[in-house]
Amino acid sequence: MNSESTPKIVSGSNFALSPVLKTRLELQAMREAGRVVAFAVRKAFDALEQGITTREMDSIAREAIESEGAKPGFLGLYGFPATACISINEEIVHGIPGDRIVRSGDLVTLDCGALVDGYNSDYAMTKVVGDSTREKDDLIDTTRESLEAGINAARHGNRIGDISNAIETYVVPRSYELVREYVGHGIGKRLHEPPQVPNLGKSGQGLELQVGLVLAIEPMVNVGGWQTRTLDDEWTVVTADGSLSCHFEHTVAITEDGPLVLTVE
Ligand code: MG
Ligand code: MG
Repeated sequence: MNSESTPKIVSGSNFALSPVLKTRLELQAMREAGRVVAFAVRKAFDALEQGITTREMDSIAREAIESEGAKPGFLGLYGFPATACISINEEIVHGIPGDRIVRSGDLVTLDCGALVDGYNSDYAMTKVVGDSTREKDDLIDTTRESLEAGINAARHGNRIGDISNAIETYVVPRSYELVREYVGHGIGKRLHEPPQVPNLGKSGQGLELQVGLVLAIEPMVNVGGWQTRTLDDEWTVVTADGSLSCHFEHTVAITEDGPLVLTVE
């Protein structure tokens, strides 16, 4: 069994430990890791068109990261064989790049990380190749906007549950379902640190957010039910009912001045 890249909720895991607060110097490295991964994902999406393979997109992301003097954060981690997770249509997370040819209308998610001075970033976004539909555009808008709502709640003095609740109350009234088995997480020297950041929850509950905490916030939104299953490759997670799924993620620092998104160019 693999350890999944986006962590599954497991009781008794290292998520029971205390979060690691980052110094200003550490945040500088994480900001650079965030800048590099945003650049790499943009370069890969710039090349996205009908006919490209997911392996080609992955190579572009890897070259972009290495051209900036950084390292791919996912490559080899838990045994993952590539730079980016590329998940298409009903695939939610952890798709393995390969020979698959991207077709017009495909909903493509790139999830990627970079390492700078030993510090991680984690970033994901979703786009449609070629011709889209109102259904796909609305799914993408809802997922991106729910991430923005979650980020807006990532404030000193709030709690993890405030982030979870902001995402839930944005998505659920729009008749979508949020994936429950995979969650956001703390991030730093390790890609996955405590605490877990679920995409559903109650305001005012969970760990209090302190200055220096850095979180990867990552709603995964399904058109159908929330249930998932893992394919025989032991990595690719898909919706159990085959419905479309969308994923956006940013790495966000809690600062005195509010949430600071690190994964931007
Ligand atoms: Mg993540
Ligand atoms: Mg990710």
